Amino acid sequence: MTNHLFDAIRSAADPAATFVEDSKGRVWTYGEMLEESSRLAATLESLGVRPGDRVAVQVEKSVPALMLYLACVRAGAVYLPLNTAYTLNEIEYFVGDAEPSLVVCDPRNRAGIAEIAAAKGASVETLDEAGEGSLIEQARTAPTDYEDVARGSDDLAAILYTSGTTGRSKGAMLSHDNLLSNALTLREFWRFTSSDRLIHSLPIFHTHGLFVATNVILMSGASMHFLPKFDPDEVIRLLGSSTVMMGVPTFYVRLLQHPGLTREAAANMRLFISGSAPLLAETHRAFFGKTGHAILERYGMTETNMNTSNPYEGDRIAGTVGFPLPGVDLRVTDPASGNALPQGETGMIEVKGPNVFKGYWRMPEKTQAEFRPDGFFITGDLGIIDDRGYVHIVGRGKDLVISGGYNIYPKEVETEIDQLDGVVESAVIGVAHPDFGEGVTAVVVRKPGATIKEQDILDGLSDRLARYKQPKRVIFVDELPRNTMGKVQKNVLRNSYADLYG
Ligand code: ATP
Ligand code: MG
Repeated sequence: MTNHLFDAIRSAADPAATFVEDSKGRVWTYGEMLEESSRLAATLESLGVRPGDRVAVQVEKSVPALMLYLACVRAGAVYLPLNTAYTLNEIEYFVGDAEPSLVVCDPRNRAGIAEIAAAKGASVETLDEAGEGSLIEQARTAPTDYEDVARGSDDLAAILYTSGTTGRSKGAMLSHDNLLSNALTLREFWRFTSSDRLIHSLPIFHTHGLFVATNVILMSGASMHFLPKFDPDEVIRLLGSSTVMMGVPTFYVRLLQHPGLTREAAANMRLFISGSAPLLAETHRAFFGKTGHAILERYGMTETNMNTSNPYEGDRIAGTVGFPLPGVDLRVTDPASGNALPQGETGMIEVKGPNVFKGYWRMPEKTQAEFRPDGFFITGDLGIIDDRGYVHIVGRGKDLVISGGYNIYPKEVETEIDQLDGVVESAVIGVAHPDFGEGVTAVVVRKPGATIKEQDILDGLSDRLARYKQPKRVIFVDELPRNTMGKVQKNVLRNSYADLYG
């Protein structure tokens, strides 16, 4: 039988080679990966999971949890990972929306989830952070020669819910080829080989840690250090025995605060990759200064996998996300008309390619609204392509501020504020304003000990930005609200300051 994604994984797997090593030093070879995923796939089948069925999984990060993802692929099921932070109330929404036939959860949540699952006709099994639980117990005696269910390139491999940064999470339907094509592209683009060892400290319920990291490693026959979560001490300790790291910007900010981050410590590393949220140019420069490594920033989203990347060879330019990946068509359009804009103008980023998802789960109208008739997906991100062809993300369409009839791109204002002495970072939002529609509002984090005040910021911007782009108010906070992927939650800020000008 052919199984589009798993056949490729199998053909890259040398049974004797190491696949993953966990934080306790336990190693799984590729041979064990094939056996474990076989046992789990057979177990899923015996639990009544049929091809096309969703398997919802809310468990702590562990190697067996990764094996469960692979088992779903082999059994022709649709893997549906859920953020470990979701509460029962949220789980009820996801289970109701996705209608899985099986929910796998942490034993601690079993009682609550069993009630929700029963109401929807789903069964429940457990998997804990040590990789034990009722699912694993049943798998122990299952066969290691599972025959994979036939799946074609367009069959669904996963439904991944978006991070919910701008509103309620949407289920993105990802096919076998969406995942496979992007993993193969990234393997080539980032020069992965079987000698690579990745530091994996991202969550595995999100596209970054699950698909970008894991699928690229699998397709390269490479290996990874698998950490339960990001821990700067652990990462520094592992640098010497690793070659690549993937992280969100906050990981790099925290590594920079660690005295162990030196050129010598990073000597064995060949690549540091960042994504999921904008990397501050300052972080890029400081990291280069300390380690001699230019962080490679790339851009993607749950719906599209990865779209652009800074080059492996060539300039990795801070504040840009590089070039469209091979096979990805990317254009910048006028958000209202959808007409393509000339290079150098800011507009909506649209993408098309084998990486782009099949639509939002059970949201046909939303799906239709987000695609152009010629098949381009409207990402919701605003950007610009510079004269060298580098893509810059200037923010999300939903975060665009319209004040006095003018469009203000928050990133432009944030970049200016961030350059002022005493500022760590900032978030610029639009807040309802009686005269201007929206008032440009800056929320700023000061450096420890800095005394910079509202007026200093306004003065610092006065000859740097057109008057209409200058904030009406500046608010200081200790830190910006971020979700688990390190994304600044501007909707939280907008809610907090909704009455500022009221
Ligand atoms: P939701 O769609 O539910 O509001 P979300 O868009 O944050 O949440 P994800 O799919 O996890 O959910 O994130 C994709 C988004 O992350 C992109 O659309 C983009 O706004 C942002 N992003 C990813 N990489 C980068 C990057 N390198 N620079 C700037 N933004 C990035
Ligand atoms: Mg999104």
